[in-house]
Amino acid sequence: MDFQLTEEHLMIQKAARDFAKNELLPGVIERDEKMIYPAEQVKKMAELGFLGMMTDPKYGGGGMDTISYVIAMEEISKVEAGISVVMSVNNSLVCWGLETFGTEEQKQKYLIPLATGEITGAFCLSEPEAGSDATSQRTTAIDKGDHYIVNGTKNWITNGNSASVYLVIAQTNTELGHRGINALIVEKDTEGVTVGAKENKMGIRASDTHSIMFQDVVVPKENRIGEDGFGFKFAMKTLAGGRIGIAAQALGIASGAYELAVAYSKERKAFGTEIANHQAIQFKLADMATEIEASRMLCFKAAWLKDQNKDYNMASAIAKVFASETAMRTTTEAVQVHGGYGYVKEYHVERLMRDAKITQIYEGTSEVQRIVISRSVLR
Ligand SMILES: Cc1cc2nc3c(=O)[nH]c(=O)nc-3n(C[C@H](O)[C@H](O)[C@H](O)COP(=O)(O)OP(=O)(O)OC[C@H]3O[C@@H](n4cnc5c(N)ncnc54)[C@H](O)[C@@H]3O)c2cc1C
Repeated sequence: MDFQLTEEHLMIQKAARDFAKNELLPGVIERDEKMIYPAEQVKKMAELGFLGMMTDPKYGGGGMDTISYVIAMEEISKVEAGISVVMSVNNSLVCWGLETFGTEEQKQKYLIPLATGEITGAFCLSEPEAGSDATSQRTTAIDKGDHYIVNGTKNWITNGNSASVYLVIAQTNTELGHRGINALIVEKDTEGVTVGAKENKMGIRASDTHSIMFQDVVVPKENRIGEDGFGFKFAMKTLAGGRIGIAAQALGIASGAYELAVAYSKERKAFGTEIANHQAIQFKLADMATEIEASRMLCFKAAWLKDQNKDYNMASAIAKVFASETAMRTTTEAVQVHGGYGYVKEYHVERLMRDAKITQIYEGTSEVQRIVISRSVLR
């Protein structure tokens, strides 16, 4: 066992920290308030190699381990979770899914531009009537020989407008239930694809979340990922790794709020002394530090298991449920440490508190994570 980060990990941490401080912090409040998609910043993130961190260099990626990804996600999420979600979806759901299960042709055509960040991708599973219960897909992909015809609506799609490529989960054979589901690569500019209005969200407001409508969209058969009927498994396997990214995002949101609370507690005076000298504040900081450290260890453990090709399904669910609940508690307490100043935008902690909530919802709610964990416990 080794709790030390390597030289390479430390370099990635510094690069991500500098990027967040220099490129994200200056405009983060405005982007949140006006729901501005951080296009310019996403481009810079691509230049730094953050959009395909774990992808093999032969497909345009950085060839890094999942620990590096957790480290970078934490640093970027400390400042702007609205952009780290773009990074998370592109890395964990789109690039990883294509690299692991795609054909060589699909990798050449789609993975290379996605991993280099020339374009971004989106993962389209949720529907108006299918969220936690992802088996009840109403979007259909009817087999027409050499192509599929896709009809239906996907909801809450991150990168919905900015992405050039969608990975779409759809039902081909209803009689086979979840074994009749397929995963298809759909280019955004295909005829019949319509992007709905941008969602006006509580948090991660800079990210572009949209519903996507598919009407008689023709998708060539060579764009199916895996064997016929592999789509549901594809989605579940991809989301198991995606949870590590979201756990790391939650960790970053928590540690960003914690760092701000520590700094503020040393400056703000009440009753003739810095509030950091009041034990009630000290204990809040102690609880934050404890839970954040535990979250970080859980993220690293899940990432390490993934890198060792061991089963990480339970570990990623544990990391996500714990880190996301830590993010909610920590950000709420960070607002409390700031008093009235915590309630206004300039001090950042109110945004982090709003951003934290989504980590308990997407890529499997906290309740769904507990289902995953308890299934492993009782197996
Ligand atoms: C900002 C944002 C971005 C998103 N990005 C994407 C994306 O890029 N791609 C994508 O496909 N989806 C995305 N989603 C969708 C997200 O994954 C779903 O919202 C989530 O899975 C929950 O589904 P739901 O909203 O339908 O809630 P429901 O499934 O309707 O759940 C409602 C409540 O019931 C609980 N519940 C449901 N079933 C059970 C059960 N068996 N036991 C106990 N409790 C249960 C849930 O935990 C929740 O508390 C995004 C959502 C948001 C808000």
